[in-house]
Amino acid sequence: MELIASLREKVKTIVSFGSCAAVGGIMRFFIRGGQEPKPWQATHLPLGQFIAPDLSVVGCPPSPQTISRLISSLSDAGKDIFNPYKKLTQKTRLSCFDLLDDVTNMQLCVGCRICEKVCPSLAIQIVDKLPEFIVERCIRCGVCYAHCPQLNKKWKKEDKGQPSLQTNLKRAE
Ligand code: SF4
Ligand code: SF4
Repeated sequence: MELIASLREKVKTIVSFGSCAAVGGIMRFFIRGGQEPKPWQATHLPLGQFIAPDLSVVGCPPSPQTISRLISSLSDAGKDIFNPYKKLTQKTRLSCFDLLDDVTNMQLCVGCRICEKVCPSLAIQIVDKLPEFIVERCIRCGVCYAHCPQLNKKWKKEDKGQPSLQTNLKRAE
């Protein structure tokens, strides 16, 4: 705990890497077969509950493409692909229900099937151009949420005029 608390002072950029570190993931909200989290599972808390990370990269595990994009973009000051990962730092839990609440129920879904394709546990099926969730399969990784283009569009609009991560990093130098 002391080590985690001291990180914020010692390093410039902190990344919660992987769904367990970013949003608790399956260890915190184990629901397969309708089970509730056991006490020892409930102790697996996301980093964001202790310190404010700069980025939260979800994935169980994060895909090689995600890692490669992140690393190559760190040196590309003109691009800001970090927006979803910055937004996810505000989340301390994610599951299929968040996609339901923030996209489907808000009538933002365009039936693009991206959530269905990226879900690692095949918990999403698009039926009549809308996602349907097999809740028992959801491992609460948040990947569908991070990849939904409609949410990404919404976040971009919200952030218009705000400084990018790269700008913040330059200011901190
Ligand atoms: S990724 Fe988003 S917009 Fe596309 S089908 Fe899934 S919920 Fe709908
Ligand atoms: S529906 Fe799939 S991608 Fe979305 S949180 Fe659950 S397991 Fe992850």
